[in-house]
Amino acid sequence: MTHSGADPDGPAGRRAAAERAEAAAFRAELGLDHLIDVHTHFMPERVLTKVWAYFDTAGPLVGRSWPITYRTEEHRRLELLRGFGVRAFTAMLYPHRPAMARWLNDWAADFAARTPDCLHTATFFAEPSAPDDARRALEQGARVFKCHLQVGAFDPLDPVLDPVWGLLADTGTPVVTHCGSGPVPGPFTGPDRIGRLLDRHPRLRLVVAHLGMPEYTEFLALAERHPALLLDTTMAFTAFTEADAPFPRAALPRLAALGDRVLLGTDFPNIPYPYPEALRALERTGLGTDWLRAVCHDNAARLFGL
Ligand SMILES: [Zn+2]
Repeated sequence: MTHSGADPDGPAGRRAAAERAEAAAFRAELGLDHLIDVHTHFMPERVLTKVWAYFDTAGPLVGRSWPITYRTEEHRRLELLRGFGVRAFTAMLYPHRPAMARWLNDWAADFAARTPDCLHTATFFAEPSAPDDARRALEQGARVFKCHLQVGAFDPLDPVLDPVWGLLADTGTPVVTHCGSGPVPGPFTGPDRIGRLLDRHPRLRLVVAHLGMPEYTEFLALAERHPALLLDTTMAFTAFTEADAPFPRAALPRLAALGDRVLLGTDFPNIPYPYPEALRALERTGLGTDWLRAVCHDNAARLFGL
């Protein structure tokens, strides 16, 4: 299933209209005019093409068949996301090797400048230039960072990163971090290192991507211990994820109790199902409309001052 064409009367156009209607129905049930999605991917075209090719081959970091639903041009992806009622979103991008972060950050600055509803996003890699890269991105106006420990395969406790975490903590800049060991563990994924990082930088507004899957309960425990820690819902509770890394039902009350620190994320466009499935999956938690309203809009609006 792809959304390759923009013809409103073609099959892709009809599918998009049906998905828009479903997202609108979800919002209407919650009394929300809009959603805020803190985990969406926009990146330079040739990087995104490589990411898609990687998913196509179900490479070692993916581990299973992963058909990308929204493989289409950038302007069309923006149109789709806005059509779901998303009024603010990020441009999560990340380097898989050194000497790439600055170039990505320049692209992201340009993307944010031409995309007013994008929360200007930046990234870094564990390399000597990381503190300068982060400082430069903040000067360019970055409001949120992405850190990908699984793809980057670096240690969050690497001493070169200490000034980066310090800077992000001091400026209160959220950093969405893929630190869980899903879909496949990396050498530095998992809750232990993040726990030690937070002991060192307790005010860091680290956002645990994917609710920390599959180490859900370990990351919930970290969030309970560190009041600045947040979580994003990216791919959680969807049928796709539940088949592989189900959220433990017994932990739902703990997720409910953290309801002011959970943020909607989706991984759009790199998802193997339609966008409304991510929304309905959250509804299936049974955590109720107040929790959903906070997660799908209000928590992020407060965090980013929107
Ligand atoms: Zn992602």
